[in-house]
Amino acid sequence: MVICPVCGSREWTKRYRIDIWDIEECDGCGFAGIDPMPVRENRAECYSEEKVVERNVKERSYPQKLSRLLKRFFGRITKRNKGDIFYNRLRRHLRPGSKVLDIGCGDGSFICKAKEDFVCTGIEISGYLASLAGKHPGIRVITGNFLDTELGREEYDGVTMISLLEHLDDPLQAMKKCFEFLKQGGVLLIKTVNYNCLNRRVKRGLWTGFRPPDHAVYFSPSNLELLLKRVGFKKIKISAAPFNDNMYCEAVK
Ligand SMILES: [Zn+2]
Repeated sequence: MVICPVCGSREWTKRYRIDIWDIEECDGCGFAGIDPMPVRENRAECYSEEKVVERNVKERSYPQKLSRLLKRFFGRITKRNKGDIFYNRLRRHLRPGSKVLDIGCGDGSFICKAKEDFVCTGIEISGYLASLAGKHPGIRVITGNFLDTELGREEYDGVTMISLLEHLDDPLQAMKKCFEFLKQGGVLLIKTVNYNCLNRRVKRGLWTGFRPPDHAVYFSPSNLELLLKRVGFKKIKISAAPFNDNMYCEAVK
């Protein structure tokens, strides 16, 4: 990266090396990105049926399986699985019947839940995943990159971005686009990996959050807030627990 999308600094420090990628930290705000950055035009290929299936097989390895089982188990106890967290937050902010756009909707699991209360549209770069999402009745699914697909200005009451931000090569452009999609007073909800979490500081280069080139950018609560303020969002709230690799953010236009 040349110019930091958060603070505009041009000074970077290499922190980790993973395969052929360096993880670089901005000296100004601590935002981190990979070098070299993936080429955007090739992104759809990364999410073809073969790649998605291949990734799922990898995720079925024993440690991954165990960690998923534990997550599901604790998720059930605390009722804090990812879909519920987002659904409840949307319900806190929006009236039933509000229009919601889920960017990077994957196989549609979240909008399937959200459609109980909201009018949902999903956009997904992977043709394979979008075809799975499209099989659910009552939701509109568009295949494409949200950065260059016409989705309307000031069209939505809510925009959700679940585990997508870390995949994007230009987060400033992405946040500007979300701002544009939202009506005045609309809410943006984000789940992304938290670079500042305890696991990253303990495991350093071995942190599971590092997945270049899939995960291209890494925010901490402070620089995510700065970026959202820069774009014009207000009432920004970020919840980040030290033991959780992810953080949750809500912001209002
Ligand atoms: Zn910076």
